[in-house]
Amino acid sequence: MPLEFLRRKGTGTPAGKAAAPLPVMPEPVPEEVVAQDHQLRLNYSAKTSTGVRLQSGPQGLNVLGHMLEGLATTDVEVVPARETTLTIASPNIIRTQEAGEWLRAHGDASPITRHALYVLELLDAIDPAYDTFAGAMLDGEVDTSGYPEYSAIVGGVAAHWDESTGDMIVRAVVGWGGKGARGDTDRIGAKLLGGLLTNILANQFALGLTTIERPVPAAGRGGLVCAHCGFASAHERAFYCPKCGMRLLRG
Ligand SMILES: [Zn+2]
Repeated sequence: MPLEFLRRKGTGTPAGKAAAPLPVMPEPVPEEVVAQDHQLRLNYSAKTSTGVRLQSGPQGLNVLGHMLEGLATTDVEVVPARETTLTIASPNIIRTQEAGEWLRAHGDASPITRHALYVLELLDAIDPAYDTFAGAMLDGEVDTSGYPEYSAIVGGVAAHWDESTGDMIVRAVVGWGGKGARGDTDRIGAKLLGGLLTNILANQFALGLTTIERPVPAAGRGGLVCAHCGFASAHERAFYCPKCGMRLLRG
């Protein structure tokens, strides 16, 4: 505060009488606003492979974790598809109900797995409504809190059941991103995706590559509802539940 201003305030005011407020001159509206810019660029990427058809059977999901052997640099965490009651779960913090469901489903997962699910679900590379995900850190470092750095690559395999045959369909998935980008991440990601696909195909139950339509959850009511897990499929010709692999019962 300028001293001149302080001095003027005390002088010439009779004792016991409050100082008259200084007249406030209205600030002229500047013709051009001086703006301070704030900007955040987030960049997320993911790659998914073609699906590999696996003979379905009791071995089911137990083989998924092994498909990361030789590629995972941390423990592999297997995340089952979300409870069917969590219908609106979404990793979107300002949509509090959706975020609440998402945390109920995935809040206890490790920071690496939460990062992987966040990136892969945001980009629609996996759909945890019916995909089972086995994932780990594949390349790069974590920060001091244990979360992957933007240049780190996470990923693994995502599996669901073919709605017409009941076979298990497994895809390789990798993802990365955040506040930054590095030139060689895409190339390393592609190489890791290839390594994962090789591992899937090397599995004793693998029957070969397959291209099938991804399942479509029936939003709200309607569709065929699985009597075992409650998943509702929008595909009218679905015979098997894409989430739990059980035969759908027709009325
Ligand atoms: Zn089911």
